Amino acid sequence: MPASEAILNSLAANAAGDQDFLAPAARVKGNGTAGLIEMTDLEHADRLRRMREGTLGSLHSWELVTAVDGPGIRMTIFLAGCGLRCLYCHNPDTFQMRDGEPVEVDDLLRRIKRYRKTLNASGGGITISGGEAMMQPRFVAKLLEGAKELGVHTCVDTSGFLGRNVTEAMLDNIDLVLLDVKAGIPELYKKVTSGDLQPTIDFGDRLAERGIETWIRFVLVPGLTDSEENVEAVAQIVEKWPNVSRVEVLPFHQMGRDKWKTLGLKYELNDTQPPDKELIERTREIFRSHGLTVY
Ligand code: SF4
Repeated sequence: MPASEAILNSLAANAAGDQDFLAPAARVKGNGTAGLIEMTDLEHADRLRRMREGTLGSLHSWELVTAVDGPGIRMTIFLAGCGLRCLYCHNPDTFQMRDGEPVEVDDLLRRIKRYRKTLNASGGGITISGGEAMMQPRFVAKLLEGAKELGVHTCVDTSGFLGRNVTEAMLDNIDLVLLDVKAGIPELYKKVTSGDLQPTIDFGDRLAERGIETWIRFVLVPGLTDSEENVEAVAQIVEKWPNVSRVEVLPFHQMGRDKWKTLGLKYELNDTQPPDKELIERTREIFRSHGLTVY
């Protein structure tokens, strides 16, 4: 058993007293909102007010993971709500903010504090993901601030589409960004996500100016994002950012397909196969040829 897996298992055992879950060795499924106080009785207006001020967030789930979502063992917090509609999204159940569970920022911070030693000892921390984390910028701002006060490494996983919501004060409290660049050609970006590419480039430029460590994520989908022209275009965007320490080429998979069906949503990639090894390697090689470190 890898050391990090052993730590995760002992973490799960330690946590068993206050919640009923088994920590995954790698991402299989989240813990839902287990162990966090649900605020289902709050008055609607009060809930909205508190969401606006950032003391209350809409949470899809959270989980403890290792070797994904940043270095070390991480507590990954999936917030509900996303403004994009990526054709390959494997978490379409995070699309709507109203489908999440209300959660107090202080409750999440208490939980981070409880895991702090283990997260820090592994070189890990927290990762705020989604959905799109920046749909709830004030909540994220408070979470980041609180985590930094606790001395915990912070990471945000974002498409950058709502980068304009990220204040300079928030950037002060972010150690690492996982920036998803979903396509490098504006028309293709639109086709893949329904949104515009430029906000992601603008946000990447800001991260570069601030020198915030950034990992780029690119989902390789055969027949959609895999053309050399597109990968080249992504590489040309990314190579301008000296703060990028790695590019992760993530092979498309079909693990989200059933969720689309369950939600009654039209899924357009039913017949798409995961990329083969050759295609993955060819794609990685294009990024490498631009001087980038690729995983
Ligand atoms: S940005 Fe992420 S959560 Fe939103 S639709 Fe795309 S893949 Fe799904």
